[in-house]
Amino acid sequence: MSHDSRERLLRDAAERGIRYLQDLDKRTVYPEPDDLQRLEKALASPLPDAPTNSSEVLSFLDDLGSPATVSSAGGRYFGFVTGGALPATVAANWLATAWDQNCFVFAGSPAVALFEETALGWLKDVLELPVSAEGTLVTGATMANFSCLASARGEVLRRAGWDVESRGLSGAPEIKLIVGEEVHASVLKVLGMLGLGRDTVQRVAVDEQGRMRTDALPRFSGPAIVCLQAGNVNSGAFDPAEQIIPLAHEQGAWVHVDGAFGLWASASPALKAQVRDFKAADSWATDAHKWLNVPYDCGVAFVRSPEALHRAMSISGSYLLRGKSRDAIDVTPDSSRRARAVEVWAALKSLGRTGLAELVERNCRQAKWLAEHLAAAGVEVLNEVNLNQVVVCFGNDERSRRVISTLQGSGVCWCGSTTWQGRHAMRISLSSWATTDADVEKTLAAILAARESEYTNSDAEKTERGP
Ligand SMILES: *Cc1c(COP(=O)(O)O)cnc(C)c1O
Repeated sequence: MSHDSRERLLRDAAERGIRYLQDLDKRTVYPEPDDLQRLEKALASPLPDAPTNSSEVLSFLDDLGSPATVSSAGGRYFGFVTGGALPATVAANWLATAWDQNCFVFAGSPAVALFEETALGWLKDVLELPVSAEGTLVTGATMANFSCLASARGEVLRRAGWDVESRGLSGAPEIKLIVGEEVHASVLKVLGMLGLGRDTVQRVAVDEQGRMRTDALPRFSGPAIVCLQAGNVNSGAFDPAEQIIPLAHEQGAWVHVDGAFGLWASASPALKAQVRDFKAADSWATDAHKWLNVPYDCGVAFVRSPEALHRAMSISGSYLLRGKSRDAIDVTPDSSRRARAVEVWAALKSLGRTGLAELVERNCRQAKWLAEHLAAAGVEVLNEVNLNQVVVCFGNDERSRRVISTLQGSGVCWCGSTTWQGRHAMRISLSSWATTDADVEKTLAAILAARESEYTNSDAEKTERGP
């Protein structure tokens, strides 16, 4: 390909990307079924024998792919816990893709290794974690949980005289695994991947917000790992770290924190009291693609003991740091990997401490506003809104199901369904830099309209059917 045609192609891609973002507001938040069907049909073809012109490849992607995407980059997508991508991070991603660095060892890309060192340092600063903790950038909180719990597994067994990295788990001492009843499914998946077993956990009873009950914490001895949650994926509630961490440590346990989005409360002077006590833990997992608003995918793991992370992840099996430079391959489950650090650095550099605090606080204020106005309109709000999550329901499960489906079909916004304390409910997660107050007002109106039309329809049904 000539320089000229490469330039045309990349400019075209950038222009299409810009247009896509600018037009998000003019389309439905969830793609129309027609657009998805058109894409599905176009994709159903065998691998071509002959090459296709790159500009044609790009047109296909934009003409058929773009309309079929979910507008999670926009301001009214509230499904799961989903961040947008700050403009500086999209730009950083585009440039870093042009760099195409392989960031598995320092020598693979000294430049990105330097960005990573700074980014991890800034993350520890803003999340208020120990300066001496070792960190790593992975695909998401699931792999961050994996990295932390692999370190925990190694360390608690090492203290019991067992080297799991060389000997494996057959014949190893048993590890007690303690989680809350409301543990995130990714933690259980990770325990399965680590050979510790999903179903071997002891689940601690929780209160009405999903917080672990301290009085229900079992007594234990020997190798043990306690998994706490900073930010319940539904309610946003925090486990009582102040009570549980000292109790767990007294009994010799490793304490791990799943703080995929909740840990970011540390960034706000007004909200950080909720996470203060989690700092006494031994490891922390969080996401950057949620509240830090970098592009997918990016999660972050921090482990208090650098040696524990090294032992679990070292490529050579030798736990010594090699020389002066830090090689990602010795602290991360991956080998070859992309330059996630560049986007994390760009997010923190572009926001600064105050910008990040403002982003987190704005989403929390929006969540509170929405909850208050929904409650005032007679919608049942099921959680204490302490952060960015709102859980609501609309009468019985059947009605809730129909209102959620009507709302999703409206195209104005998108919220997912969940089960909260046995009830079918709707979860609204405010985690995007792109969400304006006007977006939140539009969302309130759309939710109330969906409820209205649903109630009217079901009342009409009843009348039609007669007594
Ligand atoms: C989102 C989330 C996860 C999983 O994170 P991924 O980035 O999807 O791997 C784990 N725990 C909690 C509490 C979450 O909110």
